[in-house]
Amino acid sequence: MLKEYHDRQFIIDKQNWRIVSVEEGFGLNREVPLGETNKVVVHWVGRPDLVVVENSRLTPVDHKTVTRINGDTSTKYKPSTQMAGYTYSCEVIAKSLGYDVRVDRCIVNICARTRPADKPRDGKVRPRFIRAYPNFTREEIAEWRLDVVHKCERIAECLRTNAWCWAETSCHNFYNRDCDFLKLDSSTPSARDVVLAADFEVGVPWKPYEVVKED
Ligand code: SF4
Repeated sequence: MLKEYHDRQFIIDKQNWRIVSVEEGFGLNREVPLGETNKVVVHWVGRPDLVVVENSRLTPVDHKTVTRINGDTSTKYKPSTQMAGYTYSCEVIAKSLGYDVRVDRCIVNICARTRPADKPRDGKVRPRFIRAYPNFTREEIAEWRLDVVHKCERIAECLRTNAWCWAETSCHNFYNRDCDFLKLDSSTPSARDVVLAADFEVGVPWKPYEVVKED
């Protein structure tokens, strides 16, 4: 895959992209305020794979690996909280650094694990690498911010009341497989502590990145 990627994409990107950052985390210092209500204050955190300048446009890039590329692969990245978040944050951070830029899209760099068939049954030979360019207007970004703030309000309410609504429609179709908590939530409430102790390990909370303290 890397050899093909190099020959088909890298040589072009080398000419067209100026790399600004690689896997740089942001947000844990509250650099990207998203919204505030009387219940929550929300800041966005993320770590884009790349930020590049392409044709004078500052643009976040996210790499995605898929099994194979088909006709609707490039439409799967909008709506997308992740892509809207990168787009919004990139502009906020650039402006805070003194750059008067408008960021209105992401590049999703999509690679297929499987080499496309030379003679597919439907006759459409697919590429192995494609790019999607989900773009976001100011109005869409404003809607996304509001949506995230509302979600955070709901999470805050769950934490405050310790009442967690189940989504039973997802139990047997969580990313096309059974949810990992199926056995736990199928047991009687008084048995759940035993199931938890027997079947689960407490993981280390995910950290998007380490904050580097500057001198
Ligand atoms: S099994 Fe999973 S999807 Fe179903 S209610 Fe429990 S946590 Fe939600």
